Amino acid sequence: MQRIQATRWEAEAHHDALTGLPNRRYMSSRLPDLWAHLKTTQRPLLAAMLDLDHFKKINDVFGHEIGDAVLRQVGSLLLAHVRSRDLPIRLGGEEFIVLMPDASPEQALVACERIRREIETHDWPAVTAGLHVTVSIGIAPMDDTETPWAQADTALYRAKAQGRNCVVCADSPPQRGLQCDPQVQS
Ligand code: GH3
Ligand code: MG
Ligand code: MG
Repeated sequence: MQRIQATRWEAEAHHDALTGLPNRRYMSSRLPDLWAHLKTTQRPLLAAMLDLDHFKKINDVFGHEIGDAVLRQVGSLLLAHVRSRDLPIRLGGEEFIVLMPDASPEQALVACERIRREIETHDWPAVTAGLHVTVSIGIAPMDDTETPWAQADTALYRAKAQGRNCVVCADSPPQRGLQCDPQVQS
């Protein structure tokens, strides 16, 4: 009985109550294993940092409950549209990270562009009239440091600076269309 309870507590501690996604604590607990695996396979671990655009305004205009509904649906969309080996995590607030083992930057870009588009074209008006949600995404390799997603965060910052609702890949040259103009990508 105690063991069942302990397992339940551990599951709760590792999951975000709102979206049901794994949380930051879970990511920290998984990273040592992931690094060990990736070191033996010599593959990089890419991270996609996602941040909903103008989410504060969504709360302000439609209310916190609608904001929560948006976060839950974004969680479901992530689960439905990441590749099977990818791990979506709610980092906190309106920020998510998808860990992408064994992905090339090109594969990650295709996967993230699909996610960006799914969020943009989701039936948000079914949640409440006038609702529209977009996301900005930054992709970069993780490194074995205290904040392994720092490079992805920098790419995300560039996506915000370039007008939001787009995907920026840290390692890729701009001429390949990886730094995006939403109009070009849609
Ligand atoms: P940007 O496009 O630059 O990311 O702007 P933003 O408005 O999305 O970013 P900002 O950091 O200004 O606002 C984030 C908002 O997210 C503020 C906070 O109230 C809201 N938020 C954080 N956690 C939750 C939550 O669990 N539920 C709801 N409804 N809102 C949340
Ligand atoms: Mg944010
Ligand atoms: Mg935001």
